[in-house]
Order: sequence, then structure tokens, then C-alpha cells
Amino acid sequence: MPHVDNEVKLDFQDVLLRPKRSTLKSRSEVDLTRSFMFRNSKQLYTGIPVIAANMDTVGTFEMAKVLGKFSLFTAIHKHYSLEQWKEFANQNPDCLEHLAASSGTAPSDLEQLEQILEAIPQVKYICLDVANGYSEHFVEFVKDVRKRFPQHTIMAGNVVTGEMVEELILSGADIIKVGIGSGSVCTTRKKAGVGYPQLSAVMECADAAHGLKGHIISDGGCSCPGDVAKAFGAGADFVMLGGMLAGHTESGGELIERNGKKYKLFYGMSSEVAMKKYAGGIAEYRASEGRTVEVPFKGEVENTIRDILGGIRSTCTYVGAAKLKELSRRTTFIRVTQQVNPIFSDES
Ligand code: 5GP
Repeated sequence: MPHVDNEVKLDFQDVLLRPKRSTLKSRSEVDLTRSFMFRNSKQLYTGIPVIAANMDTVGTFEMAKVLGKFSLFTAIHKHYSLEQWKEFANQNPDCLEHLAASSGTAPSDLEQLEQILEAIPQVKYICLDVANGYSEHFVEFVKDVRKRFPQHTIMAGNVVTGEMVEELILSGADIIKVGIGSGSVCTTRKKAGVGYPQLSAVMECADAAHGLKGHIISDGGCSCPGDVAKAFGAGADFVMLGGMLAGHTESGGELIERNGKKYKLFYGMSSEVAMKKYAGGIAEYRASEGRTVEVPFKGEVENTIRDILGGIRSTCTYVGAAKLKELSRRTTFIRVTQQVNPIFSDES
């Protein structure tokens, strides 16, 4: 008989953060910078741990230039050529500290990753991204990449449960990407019926990772700055954003004009659009598990970044955390049935 886990699992919209007595006078007193020493690479990180997703509409070089100024991080998507990488790295040496080069498990991806890391030694982070981080093949791949790059910091995923977080860390990954089915343009839950509520996934995976001195990224599902704060509150070391950073000047994707309004195309990396663009169509054995949407054009990403960072600072003042590091220790989630007052219901 199939097993049913009756324990309640939570998403961002199921909770709010409970305010707590605080001595902080203003948001400006809050320090969002974090420092980590990674378990396997032994490298040090200092920065604001928000990451632009390695999607070709989000993790662009243009995005990295702006995010780098705020000491945010960009997982550069895997579809830039070596030449494009070299050109970017000569012109923007300051950005290189806060970005990762991405790869899937295909031999051609790995070959390209090796060439990039060899040509640009300042790039110290590798993002190994597959839709399903549970396969034995992926675990072997992580071990192989760790052997080839003993000093690079490896991000790997995606998974949603503690035992797999542990396995990937013990296989050489430093930071585990957590999230299946929660992405804004992800259709895995509909197509495959597989997933895990993001807030619970983060809490459980952070616990498993931290026990081994590893780290996690909460990847997917954030729709507003409050969700980013909740992910940090749940124990995420980093939070990765796709949809919230889509639709800007610096986001990739076509700018469309219709009836005087501007939109940018945003799509999942396994959507039909992405597969046609890069793989010449959807492979027969797999369904497309990503959607395509038109996002109203939002202008410069700088404004959105200020909004997100302002939101997290505000959270920290409400719960009495002078530093982002203290946020999870100061977090009590309250389960709720409503997030917002729906009277003007366009505002959500
Ligand atoms: P968002 O911040 O938009 O909610 O989620 C971004 C995350 O969605 C990405 O970092 C990635 O993990 C996931 N994602 C991106 N493209 C696809 C896709 O085509 N299918 C699925 N299942 N997930 C995707």
C-alpha cells in the first residue's frame, strides 16, 4: 500500500513571520551581508546571498553587472559561448567574484564548463543543474566534477529532501539547490505530479545540510520580497530568483510591444520555447515541464533589487535581527489562512 505522509508541509503562502521585540531603530541598521566557508571547496564567500537563476532570461551577463554592484550573485546560464565569456571577463573583471558558470550533465556541457573555467580562473563557482537531482547518474556526475575541480565551489540540485541533500554534499557539492515544482514557470507538479512545498523543503534540507556544514539555496517559488525573507527565515543560506528578476532591461528574452504596452518573454528552461531554441525541439521521451509567459516590462532591475533588499531589511527589523545571519534564529512562523486583505484584489 502506498505510504502517505500526513505531516503538514508548508509553502510560503501558508505562513507569516511573527514580529518580535527589537532594539533596532531603523532598517538601515540591518546588515544583509553574509560570510560562508564552504565545506568541500574550503573557499570563502562574502556577499548578499540572493542569486539570479541560471535561466537564459534571468542569469545573463547584463544581470551580473548590476547584481555584482550590490554584491548579489548571478548563476550565469549555460548557453553563452566561450568567446562570449572571454569578452565579458575582460571587460568586467570586478563581476567575476559573484558569479557561477552552469552545466547540465551532458558531455558537451561539461566540456564547455571546463573551457570556461580554464580560460577564466577568477570564476570560482560551478552550478550543476538538473531537473531531477535524485538520479544516481547525477550523483556520479557531481563526484566527477569535484575530482576535476577540487577548489571550486559546487552548487548542485535540484532536490527537496534531507537524505539527498546529504548524499550530494558527501559526493562533493558545497551548496545544494532545493526546490522541485515550485518555480513560477515550472509545470512539473502538473505534468509529473511531483513536488514538495517549498518552505518545508527549505527547513528540512537546511537542517540536513547544516548538520554536515553544507549550505543550501532555496530555488523557486518566491513571488515577492516577503517570500525571500521567509526562505531566509526557514534556514536558506541563499535564495535563487527567476520570475522576480524577469521582465527587466537586463533580463534576456525578447521585448514585445502590443497596444502601447511592453512585455518581455520569460520561459522555463525545459519549456517548448527553450527546447526549440537550444535543443532543436522537445525530445520524444520527455514532456515539456516549463511554461512561457509575457511579463509586463519592469525597467531597470536596480529598482527591483532595492525593493527586495528593503523588504528583507524590514523583516529583520520586525523580528529583531540586526544581521541576516540572525534572521532564522529569530524566526517563528505562524500558520495563516490569508496573506493579504483582498478588498482591492489586484494587489496580491
Ligand atoms: P522562480 O523564481 O521563477 O519561481 O523559479 C526559478 C526556478 O525555476 C529556477 O531556478 C529553476 O530551478 C526552475 N525552473 C526554471 N525553468 C524551469 C522549467 O522549465 N521547468 C521546471 N520544472 N523548473 C524550471
